[in-house]
Amino acid sequence: MSDTDNQQPLGRGLPSDGLLSLEEARRRITRAVDPIDDHESIGLDDCLGRILATDIRSPISVPPHANSALDGFAFSGGSIPENGRRVLDVIGTAWAGKPLDGTVGPGQAARIMTGAPMPAGTDSVLAQELVEWDDQNLYLKSDTKGGQNVRQAGEDLMAGEIALTSGKRIMPAELGLLASLGLTDIDVVRKLKVSIFSTGDELYRPGQPVGPGGIYDSNGFTLSGLLTRLGAVVDDGGIIRDERSAVQDALFSAADSADVIITSGGVSTGEADYVEEVLQSHGELGFWRVAIRPGRPLAFGHLGKAVFFGLPGNPVAVMVTFYQFLRNALSKMMGEADTPMLPCFKVRCDTPLRKRRGRTEFYRGILETSADGSLQVRRTPHQGSGVLRSMSEANCFIILPDDYASTAAGELVDVQPFHGLV
Ligand code: AMP
Ligand code: MG
Repeated sequence: MSDTDNQQPLGRGLPSDGLLSLEEARRRITRAVDPIDDHESIGLDDCLGRILATDIRSPISVPPHANSALDGFAFSGGSIPENGRRVLDVIGTAWAGKPLDGTVGPGQAARIMTGAPMPAGTDSVLAQELVEWDDQNLYLKSDTKGGQNVRQAGEDLMAGEIALTSGKRIMPAELGLLASLGLTDIDVVRKLKVSIFSTGDELYRPGQPVGPGGIYDSNGFTLSGLLTRLGAVVDDGGIIRDERSAVQDALFSAADSADVIITSGGVSTGEADYVEEVLQSHGELGFWRVAIRPGRPLAFGHLGKAVFFGLPGNPVAVMVTFYQFLRNALSKMMGEADTPMLPCFKVRCDTPLRKRRGRTEFYRGILETSADGSLQVRRTPHQGSGVLRSMSEANCFIILPDDYASTAAGELVDVQPFHGLV
């Protein structure tokens, strides 16, 4: 990517039909956002979902000492007889957390439990169910292999080695790994602050009496859920009426404190569109028609230091644009190093799907295991971009790329699961 690409004003460079491809819109957005570089040190207990701000070097070797991989007997490989069998004297027991005192000499062995440090003088372990023994005696045969069943010190990590790299999201495995190093305070990127607004005169919050022609605001809640699960701090600014001053006041005050401002609604053509007006005159705005369905109108830009996303009003379009554009861009801003798109793979679709060439379409799908054990997908019954229930019934998007025409029942289609993901 050249520097001139980077400096390209956000709204320029539209293809002649005025539509921007999914990939191009995604590229422009990702390119135009930067990671925040504020760190904070927090306790290990609070680290789940946070992003590491520095590399973590292990202060210790893991495991810290050579230990037994199973319950059995520890001895020196040098005690294995050349032929026949040899009787070893079992001199004691090594427990996990209670090592054996003293040294196991030639001709001696010790009982050992899983995780117990290898006693001095030993380098081999035999499982208790695979060896002959009674009271004080272990009978070692000549075909025994030495050096087995021992987990060596530093086998997982050597002291000083990098255990986790900066930009890694702390998931349950990482949380346990940090604990296994004995760390208590971790340097993480501070949380991204996101202000959200729902725009529209028809909107009311649950609990408010609904006026004529009114509906409840669902986008504010969906967005808040998506952002919280991604690890952002959400400031829900509620509903902005379709008035210039209301839009301007709300957006200006959010730009003072938020890293990101997200609005929904008010970006379709033909309506009193103050979001666009305010951003055009006081910030920087790309107002795009992206070749996707649902979710075609999308505004993106900056207001002061805040990054701005203007999403369509339709509830399904809000979720589609979040998963396709915002999720990656916000992860990048959060300092996450690896932000691949949600995984996508091909599955047989048991229903025909109508499709127009020239745009990427996102059907809501239900991915399930069929009777023969293979995966298959079917579309949810209602596909309107206002039908939020379709997102609740679905566990994946069925993605039909822009060069596809309609597909017949039984064809392979691209599926992108979102169920259980952020
Ligand atoms: P707009 O993009 O403002 O033209 O809105 C498109 C459609 O989405 C209209 O039917 C709106 O009523 C609906 N809509 C807009 N915002 C919301 C919201 N916050 N919650 C539910 N529906 C909305
Ligand atoms: Mg509206």
